[in-house]
Amino acid sequence: MPANSLEQVRNLCMRRGFVFPGSAVYGGVASFWDYGPLGVELLNNIKKAWWQDTIYTRNDMEGLDAAVLMSRKVWQHSGHEATFSDPLVDNKKNGKRYRLDHLLSQQTEEVLRGLLRRLVQLLKMPPELFETITRERIVSDISSLLTSSTLEAQIATKVGIPGARLDQPLSTTFSANDRAELIRALARAVDELPTKAEKLALVLGLQDQIGWQPVDQEPSLRIAGILSVRVAKYLLAAAKVVDPSDGSVGEWTDPRSFNLMFKSHVGPVEAAVGTEEEAHARVYLRPETAQGIFMNFAHVQRAMARKVPFGVAQIGKAFRNEITPGNFIFRTREFEQMEIEFFIKPPQFVKEGEKNDQQWHEEWVEQRFKWWLRYATSPSATLEERDATASRFRARAQTPDELAHYAKATTDIEYLFPGSLGWGEIEGVANRTDFDLSAHSKEVPEEDLKRLKLEANHDSTEKLDYFDPDAKARYIPWVIEPSAGATRAMLTFLCEAYHDEVVTEPTKQQIDQIKSDAAMIRKNAEKKIKEAQKELAAGREAKHDPAKVEAFLKLLDETVARLPESLTEVLTALDHEGAQNLEPVKKFRPPTEKLVEDCTRTVLRLHPALAPVKLAVFPLKKNKPELVELAQAIKERFQRHFRVVYDDSAGIGRLYRRQDEIGTPFCITVDFESLEDGTVTVRERDSMEQERVKIDDLPGYLSERLQLS
Ligand code: ATP
Repeated sequence: MPANSLEQVRNLCMRRGFVFPGSAVYGGVASFWDYGPLGVELLNNIKKAWWQDTIYTRNDMEGLDAAVLMSRKVWQHSGHEATFSDPLVDNKKNGKRYRLDHLLSQQTEEVLRGLLRRLVQLLKMPPELFETITRERIVSDISSLLTSSTLEAQIATKVGIPGARLDQPLSTTFSANDRAELIRALARAVDELPTKAEKLALVLGLQDQIGWQPVDQEPSLRIAGILSVRVAKYLLAAAKVVDPSDGSVGEWTDPRSFNLMFKSHVGPVEAAVGTEEEAHARVYLRPETAQGIFMNFAHVQRAMARKVPFGVAQIGKAFRNEITPGNFIFRTREFEQMEIEFFIKPPQFVKEGEKNDQQWHEEWVEQRFKWWLRYATSPSATLEERDATASRFRARAQTPDELAHYAKATTDIEYLFPGSLGWGEIEGVANRTDFDLSAHSKEVPEEDLKRLKLEANHDSTEKLDYFDPDAKARYIPWVIEPSAGATRAMLTFLCEAYHDEVVTEPTKQQIDQIKSDAAMIRKNAEKKIKEAQKELAAGREAKHDPAKVEAFLKLLDETVARLPESLTEVLTALDHEGAQNLEPVKKFRPPTEKLVEDCTRTVLRLHPALAPVKLAVFPLKKNKPELVELAQAIKERFQRHFRVVYDDSAGIGRLYRRQDEIGTPFCITVDFESLEDGTVTVRERDSMEQERVKIDDLPGYLSERLQLS
């Protein structure tokens, strides 16, 4: 079984030096992480595996490392400056800020249904419910929102206004001349709504009102779009939307758009935002690495004499001022991406027998999916284990509603993370057509600009087209973009590799002992709960929080019921905050710890190519210089090629456990026999099997099994 909570992985990462909280000396900065000695090895290995598979093993790829800071114009023409934003609401009661769709997805079904009902009622305008809001107000809101929201685009699309596109503000879809007519059409549509319930349901994207799924992120996103109208705060209040941090009804503001790019300035600028000086000097920390590749498309093509189709790959840091970072390193404000822009012929130039954009897209989805499975699976895995790993990955085609307006198709590769995180995107493979290169190119033909909903680019100094010698024509290539997160990949591989295993079955007597200790804890805890309740009722401070102690007891019961398989989880249960200051817990912990250590191990079944340390060498006895010398010589023999450690700080059993926990595929023990016959014991991590191998045969033995390339 892989990790069953992110907490397990996080604890291991902190304890063993994979990841540390950033700026810890000053109390830390939320959601910034430092990658420690083992973390940097793992991350480097992931990036190396990606680089080797995407560049070295193909004939059509080049690498690139573009600057993090680029001209502001890059982000203006890519669309990021105007649209790379999230709707945010604040709770005025406690100052907490949420992304609207995230807030909604954490509400109960009752609250969400209430919200929908009110939204529907609002459009029907029953005066007793929303006295301050007039029907005219809603209509005028819709028109005034034309520049800032996609709600009206949704309505316009659903009511069938020709030319309207989902996910794109109408201001970019329609010319100014058409807008007056459009506003009238929208007004008419809204006017008709109360009499056409089914159309209303359509408009709001709520066909599924009956089977409403509050946990489904996609409808919450849609509702978030709908709530961008300025009536949102009334709706949020009326529906009693609660603040997930304390469970009480929040005092919500209207949602505001918040750009996710970090701003900075080039040169010594102290000017206020909004001044010309500031605007001139402003730069953004890149929120994705992709734009650096588009900037260099022509350079790479010419310098490397590449013919389309070819691709450019880049690994690098990206920065997003995420509103709700979290889930350990899943969503952070500084992270690393591994991105490919694969340039292909536009459909009209594809000859018979050549792959078209759809086929290239499918091929990349397949290639990338295989990559994820390959590195998520330890070579020692059984067929059953391989199937189980495969079942935790999926490729999900985005629905038309989810698609970015410029994408023809996008497939998200997702992993089933443990706990409440669930399915999460780890890579997006998008068919971005010729949108990006056209956006940055000068002199794009009018009809292409219209098709791509782009303004002519008068800032660009280059025409980003390409002369195809076969087609004897110039065109702007299309792009397939597989975009993965390196740090998110690290979390994925860690979750999949994490295993707590019982290696020696505890005896019935030992299990009974835990059960009787747990019963003792329960008796004591129940007494403490009663005492605390009394104190609280009398308005005094209590030593224990009854709710937390109850939660601890529930967890303990549930864990003990699954013994012996849940042996290691008993310790996790004892770490619960509700267990603090309970005397029997303190007493019970040391013997349980000992038992857990004797009977179980935590092992990271990482693919050997990803393992931070490939080999550990131990002398059987540290006070025998000849054993130490030979062990160190073996270490030195391999340390040029990969990370090897020498350790003599504990007994062999304990040393094995330490290496298992960080995923070291092989351990070598040098003993007295080694001195006589030149063989050592090699112990494999997953099976724990040991065999004698000649020291001289080690290079071949290891290189075959480590699968480093
Ligand atoms: P999400 O929906 O999770 O916000 P996204 O669709 O915005 O992700 P992309 O812009 O497609 O993400 O970025 C490509 C990849 O970069 C993602 O699949 C993910 O692996 C990684 N990524 C994106 N944002 C973050 C982040 N804040 N922290 C860590 N990795 C990230």
